[in-house]
Amino acid sequence: MKRVYFVDFDGTITKKDTTDAIVSSFARDGWQEIMRLWNEGKLSTEQSARLILPYLQVSSEEAARFLREIPIDDTFRDFLTYVKARDEQCYILSDGFDFNISTVLEKAGITHLPVYTNQLIIGENSYDIACPHASPCGHCGTCKKTLVKKLSKEADQAVYIGDGYSDHCGCQAADLIFAKGFLLRYCRAQKIPARPFRTFADIVKYLENLA
Ligand SMILES: [Mg+2]
Ligand SMILES: [Zn+2]
Repeated sequence: MKRVYFVDFDGTITKKDTTDAIVSSFARDGWQEIMRLWNEGKLSTEQSARLILPYLQVSSEEAARFLREIPIDDTFRDFLTYVKARDEQCYILSDGFDFNISTVLEKAGITHLPVYTNQLIIGENSYDIACPHASPCGHCGTCKKTLVKKLSKEADQAVYIGDGYSDHCGCQAADLIFAKGFLLRYCRAQKIPARPFRTFADIVKYLENLA
């Protein structure tokens, strides 16, 4: 059986959400209300990013230094080894930013994974967002549901791994869900079957036991 894996980035691969960490460390006050409206589904990712980014008071160099200090789940590499040994594909789907992901993964020495996410456009004195993977749903910057459907056609089983609000829609297009945090609570409330996990080691262990 060939699987394909869809993995969220912030809070799933990293131990904390990189965008939340940057905003709460470097934005002047006022962003909280915008973030709240996004969390309630009242603003799209693109809208809320356009409103929040002007609050940021940090250079991209300083932001990169800050991001390099954010730890990842140290069992993620073992998970990638497991996937590679089975000759399967793993995609990162994120409603965060390419800049955060490439900075963190480069630091971790992980550079071969295909990533679908929003672009952080770094201007002279400002930031902007571009969403090349948006969809008609109108809410996601990167619509994970569309991507899971599109990228899982060749596989027998689509596996989804995530933790947050931006995963709640995409995970339902997968066959097997591993969830923690908000996503786990959401799946339980909606009676969507999901396996709880803490680290990628739990996932490998579970998948190995299936075999
Ligand atoms: Mg997340
Ligand atoms: Zn969507």
